[in-house]
Amino acid sequence: MNHFAERQRRLLQKLKKQQVDVLLVTNPVNVTYLTGFSGDSSYLFVGAKKTILVSDFRFTQQLAEECPDLETYIRPHNQTLLQATAATLKKLKCQTVGFESDHLTVADFESLREQAPPVDWKGCPGLVRDLRTIKDADEIRQIRQAVHVAERAFRMFHAMVRLGDSEKELCDALETYIRRAGGRCSSFPIIVAAGHRAALAHAPPTGQRLEEAGLLLVDWGADVGMYKSDLTRVFAVHKISPKLRDVHRVVVEAQHRAIRSIRAGVRARDVDAEARSYIADQGFGKFFGHGLGHGIGLEIHEAPSIRQNSDDILQPGMVITIEPGIYLPGWGGVRIEDDVLVTKDGCEILTQVNKELEILC
Ligand code: ZN
Ligand code: ZN
Repeated sequence: MNHFAERQRRLLQKLKKQQVDVLLVTNPVNVTYLTGFSGDSSYLFVGAKKTILVSDFRFTQQLAEECPDLETYIRPHNQTLLQATAATLKKLKCQTVGFESDHLTVADFESLREQAPPVDWKGCPGLVRDLRTIKDADEIRQIRQAVHVAERAFRMFHAMVRLGDSEKELCDALETYIRRAGGRCSSFPIIVAAGHRAALAHAPPTGQRLEEAGLLLVDWGADVGMYKSDLTRVFAVHKISPKLRDVHRVVVEAQHRAIRSIRAGVRARDVDAEARSYIADQGFGKFFGHGLGHGIGLEIHEAPSIRQNSDDILQPGMVITIEPGIYLPGWGGVRIEDDVLVTKDGCEILTQVNKELEILC
């Protein structure tokens, strides 16, 4: 059985529990996860009797290449996606139809309900999202590849950084290196923040130059095929100030404590607490204002959520980031981020870039 058939089988088990005959999957990322089809504007019905993708002419060839075994309905150009979905539903002859109420808009749902045969609609939020939290062997292989490409690109970046470079120039260079290293693109808009600008957790790149900036924060990742990686490192520029050494040491130790606590069965909020309580003990509590980490996979931010109020429990096969940070307005910020695979007894750190504080140029 291929990975996609196995994912559909696991989804069908969930549908049975929910007493749903067929699920209408409208979120394009979830359609990709279940079928391997990388296009958009297409809805998927998954049911015990039939699984069918409603798509259009633009994707005919792509569908034949990416998922040749998948049954499809290619709508004519004078039929909208919602009309085609309603027409397909008519042929499926089912009673209870689940839909992704955390994705389909109210307007589209109401329009669909008007055009479709009378069935019982049931909102099923998060069904595919929950499946996606636990990566199968093929997904883990692709995430490893995304990490590998990000790390190769970073070695090229590291070798070329010069004092006169601006944040924007460095961002553009790293994007190019990610593509040259075999990535499709960066997995999100790269953050290169120099000096005091690193106090902005999500700083957009500017013309700020590295000279005398004190520190440089780089948050980057690669998108390889479909799967994504996500890393952050901070460097001293020209020389290491005592303050940077101190803040960096606290963040690295907080991350170390959090990673040490990871294993299957642990609550995500307890992993967050390991890092957060250490940072607070060191006097920086109010300068760490975001969650500790997030799942990565087909999307750069996905479940589970590693934060104070998370109800998620870590399970083998989850791939998460661990990224504590300390942001001091007017001075700068330090965040260290690695990607971690949860295992039964602990975890495997997938990212290997050096995190000792070093002088960049
Ligand atoms: Zn990141
Ligand atoms: Zn992240």
